[in-house]
Amino acid sequence: MAGGGPVQARLDMAVRIIAGSMVAEVCSLYLRRASGDLELFATEGLSPEAVHVTRLKPGEGLVGEIVRLGRPLNLSDAPSHPAFAYRPETGEDPYHAFLGVPLLRGGRTIGVLVVQNRTERVYGEEEVEDLQIIAMVLAEMVAGGELIAQGALKDVEIAPHRPERLKGVRFADGLALGVAVLHETPVAPEQLLSEDSAAEERRLKTAIADLQLQIDHMMDGQHGLVGASFEVLETYRMFAHDRGWNRSLEEAVRSGLTAEAAVERVRSEHRARLGQARDPYLRERLHDLEDLNDRLLRHLSGDGAAPAHVLPENAILIARNLGPADILEYDRGRLAGILLEEGSAASHAGIVARALDIPCVGRLQGLRDRINQGDPVIVDAETGEAYLRPRADVVSAFSSRMAVRAQRRAEFAKLRDTPAFTRDGAKISLLMNAGLAVDLDILQETGAEGIGLFRTEFQFMVAEELPRFNAQTQLYQRVLDVAGDMPVIFRTLDLGGDKILPYLEAEREDNPALGWRAIRMGLDRPALLRLQLRALIAAARGRELRVMFPLVASVEEFRTARALVDHEIAWARKRGRPTPSLLHVGAMIEAPALVWHLDALLPMTDFVSVGTNDLMQYMFAADRGNPRVADRYDPLSPPALRALQAIQLACADSGTPVSVCGEMAGRPLEAFALIALGFDRLSMPPSGVGPVKQMVLSCDREAARRGVAGLLKGASGSVRNEVETLARKLSVAI
Ligand code: PEP
Ligand code: MG
Repeated sequence: MAGGGPVQARLDMAVRIIAGSMVAEVCSLYLRRASGDLELFATEGLSPEAVHVTRLKPGEGLVGEIVRLGRPLNLSDAPSHPAFAYRPETGEDPYHAFLGVPLLRGGRTIGVLVVQNRTERVYGEEEVEDLQIIAMVLAEMVAGGELIAQGALKDVEIAPHRPERLKGVRFADGLALGVAVLHETPVAPEQLLSEDSAAEERRLKTAIADLQLQIDHMMDGQHGLVGASFEVLETYRMFAHDRGWNRSLEEAVRSGLTAEAAVERVRSEHRARLGQARDPYLRERLHDLEDLNDRLLRHLSGDGAAPAHVLPENAILIARNLGPADILEYDRGRLAGILLEEGSAASHAGIVARALDIPCVGRLQGLRDRINQGDPVIVDAETGEAYLRPRADVVSAFSSRMAVRAQRRAEFAKLRDTPAFTRDGAKISLLMNAGLAVDLDILQETGAEGIGLFRTEFQFMVAEELPRFNAQTQLYQRVLDVAGDMPVIFRTLDLGGDKILPYLEAEREDNPALGWRAIRMGLDRPALLRLQLRALIAAARGRELRVMFPLVASVEEFRTARALVDHEIAWARKRGRPTPSLLHVGAMIEAPALVWHLDALLPMTDFVSVGTNDLMQYMFAADRGNPRVADRYDPLSPPALRALQAIQLACADSGTPVSVCGEMAGRPLEAFALIALGFDRLSMPPSGVGPVKQMVLSCDREAARRGVAGLLKGASGSVRNEVETLARKLSVAI
């Protein structure tokens, strides 16, 4: 097969050899076109006229079924299978027994290899194994250009090599140019077939034993593994000791593969199978399994302890989705951008990317199928696009845009010490959202006047275990130290919903966003909340302390929560411990119910902050984390803006300070609308402060107010375009 000659002749020879060695009357090779169609590329036994003529749509016929399932199909009577699609041109009528296996490469099914026999029979386990190994070798040859020169077969999607542009959604603004680093790395084994399978089996067994030992050690707490949580380790341990997994690997090695190739084969199968799973839980498990495979490969290469996340300069991280801890495991100095296949702007990957100011585009369909490790990549988070293997002219145009952007940044930096007044003299306070110690470094740099939302749960989410009293106190102290005279609003733990702690037992809920989360958890299990309040009080000793509660849905909840704070202050006093010089207790307005009960709530609070991310999710009944619905409704629409206006008016009437701390406060156009509604305190991701300040400085608040009020009357849907036109008419820098 490695010999020269025309491509078709070599393919024909390949299927002939396979048919002969499998004692099959038919052997056919189908390869996948870019369209997804499976085309018959070579056959021994079927009609030669069908070659390059017979095509099956994705999911069509038994061959399509194999692609869908990502695993072999072994049938004694193929025509009686419901998925069977009859193609007269092939002349396959007389054949009953059918065995088809996918050609897997890096989790992708690039084709299907089929053998058929006349007599009705089920192929034996060994035959299935053999054909899978042949398919694996064939897949490597096809992909590696050994059998077919790369590109010689036009449109066959093997290893992507052409420039491509994918459209997604902006999660964190910015531009980046760099090289692809796959979060879930496929490692192509160098050698597929082993010379001595007994020695290979020993090597595999040693590596598995080392891996098991390493994981057991990690679980005993002897080695800290950054960011890995207990539950993940538990899953690793389960998989590492899983007999089925071990057996599949051993069988693959016994049938002649190298240990590395065996890992790859078993991994490919799992990927293809689990990758289809709709259940997010199952897909998460796939993620665990990927990591475990990588670890095993490192053990096989004798490099078991190597850190998982060494990055090249200007790395663009490619992943299906990322948790907050995942991003933090990478070297931030080298991480230039992030591309995700899934996620939503309000998901944690989005929030953390914005906090760290790393450009991030998400919801790029088919991303991981189209990219290879080390490919040059452009992250255009201004337009929400990704360019894979961009052409030179695209790179050069993009580089100029990066330069312009750097220049604009320099302009924002110059505005750093300019106070944010509108043209007609209204002072607007611009604050920063934070949640991790790393955010604090940029507080001074942004020119924000303080921290309007400190998401305390982030410390809990990125930790190995529940942060204890001292760890909490230390972080809060640090935040207050860095902020100095600037105000900091600490939001108490907002857990549950999409914010799950891996080390805390959580019951699965049907509707986590509507479930036992945030203040509800805090009030039902007050021990955790009280410990946190105690840590906040201890950290603030002699300084002002601002605390607010998330997702308050009833006045009663706020009353109870506030009483807990008073109780903790009294507790500290009784023990002669230092207490804050001044205490402000506030509520987040995130539950629509509260909007209609502000008359009772506001007199009890010292301040409130509108969490528009959640408020919009509940107002529009659209899960902020679900890509299908997250961006379906526009906060720049009459219902949303009227609710915000009602809050602003009620707060103005009662003299309660109010801020907006959802993501919309950090986008110039949305911030323009908020200012028009009368808000004068906005808290946002650090990267928003410069652009929003520029907007404020160019804005006439009274004109904005009149304009936006006019737009809302009678509007039937989103008024985004109208607000934008208004802003441009008023020469506001959006
Ligand atoms: C919000 O809901 O708008 C908010 C600021 O809180 P979080 O995004 O952390 O839920
Ligand atoms: Mg919220």
